[in-house]
Amino acid sequence: MILILVPNTRPESPEYKQLMAHLANFPGISTRVHTEVGAEQSLTEIYLIGNTKVLPIEDVSCLPCVDRVVRVSEEYRILGRHKNDDRPTYFEYNGVRFGQDTLNVFAGLCAVDTIEHVEMMMKSLREHGQVCTRMGAYKPRTSPYSFQGHGKTCLPYVFDIAGKYGIKVIAMEITHESHLEEIRNALYQTGNATGVMLQIGTRNTQNFELLKIVGRQQNFPVLIKRGFGITLDESLNAAEYLASEGNRKVIFGLRGMKTNMGDPHRNFVDFSHVPVVRRLTRMPVCIDPSHSVGTRASSPDGILEIMHVTAQGIIAGANMVLVDFHPAPSNALVDGPQALLIKELPQFLEDIQIAREAYEKRTLLAERYRETLNSDVI
Ligand code: PEP
Ligand code: MN
Repeated sequence: MILILVPNTRPESPEYKQLMAHLANFPGISTRVHTEVGAEQSLTEIYLIGNTKVLPIEDVSCLPCVDRVVRVSEEYRILGRHKNDDRPTYFEYNGVRFGQDTLNVFAGLCAVDTIEHVEMMMKSLREHGQVCTRMGAYKPRTSPYSFQGHGKTCLPYVFDIAGKYGIKVIAMEITHESHLEEIRNALYQTGNATGVMLQIGTRNTQNFELLKIVGRQQNFPVLIKRGFGITLDESLNAAEYLASEGNRKVIFGLRGMKTNMGDPHRNFVDFSHVPVVRRLTRMPVCIDPSHSVGTRASSPDGILEIMHVTAQGIIAGANMVLVDFHPAPSNALVDGPQALLIKELPQFLEDIQIAREAYEKRTLLAERYRETLNSDVI
C-alpha cells in the first residue's frame, strides 16, 4: 500500500510525526519513505510493507498528511500501474520531459570514435531541432579483442560539444559502477554542459548489483534495456530494482530478442510489447530499431527496414527512439552495418512524425468508440 502525502509535507511537521507514530503501531508492517523533490513542489510517498490487506483504505486515507492511498499488487510495486493509481507517468530531466505522453528521439553514434564524428553528429542534430542523442563511451563487446569504447577519455569533449550544440541529454551505457563517477566528474569539469541518461544494456539487465547502485542515485535518469533472452516479466522486475532503490526516472527499452526466429534481422523485433509495457507500468517505453534489425536492408517500397520497425513501434505508442547514426558507417568501430547516414536524419525524423500523427489519430478514434460504446450500455 502506498500513502501519497499532501504536496510539500515537511518531515519535521507535527502532523507528519503523528502519522509516522501511528504507522509504527501497525503490527507486522514496516515503512519506506520516498521523497521526490521537484522544481515547484516536493512529493512524499510512504510504502507500507507487510500484510496490508487487513488495513481498510478508508481508515488509512483519514490519517494526517495523507492525500490519497493506492493499494498495490505484488508486481512492479513502484513502477507498475495499479487500480486507481493516478501517480505520474512522466518525469523531467535537464529541461526535457519524458513520459508515456511524449516522444523523444535519441539519434547518435553507437560508439564515440573520433571527435570529428561527434561534432558532425551533434551539429546535424541541432540543425534538425534535436536536443537528445546517444553516444557510447563504454561498449560491451562480444569479443575481448574488439574496440571497447574510449571510456572516460572521450567524455570531456563529448560533453563540451554537446553543450556547444544545445544537446541536453545523452544516452550513454555504463557497464560498471566506476563509470558513474567518471561521468559525474566529466560533467562537473565541463560545467554541466549537458545531461546524461544512463543506459543499462541488454547484457546487464539482470546485473542486480549494478542496478542497485544505479538505482541509489537520483541525479541521472536510467534507460534499462530488456534482457534479450529473458521474459518480459523478468525484465520489468529488473527495472523495478532501480525504483526500489530510489530512482523512479526509469525508461524501459525494447531492442529485440535473441533467436534465429527473427532472421534475417539481428534480433526478433518485439515492438508489439510497446502497449503491453505501457499497460503494466508507468514507464515511458523506448524502442531501439537499430539493434533490433541490425542491417540497412531496404524493402521493395524503398523504405529501410529500420525505418519500418521504427514506425511500427511509434504507431503502437512508443515514447522514445534510440537509433544508431554514423557519418561514415564503413569506418565505424562498432555496429557500422546498422547505422543510418547523417543525410538520412531529416527523412527519419519526418517518417517518425507521420507515424506519431497516425498514433495520435488512432487514440482519438479509440476514444470516440469508447464513448459510443459507453452510451450504448446506458
Ligand atoms: C547499445 O545501445 O549500444 C547496445 C549495446 O544495446 P543493447 O544493450 O540493446 O545491445
Ligand atoms: Mn551498438
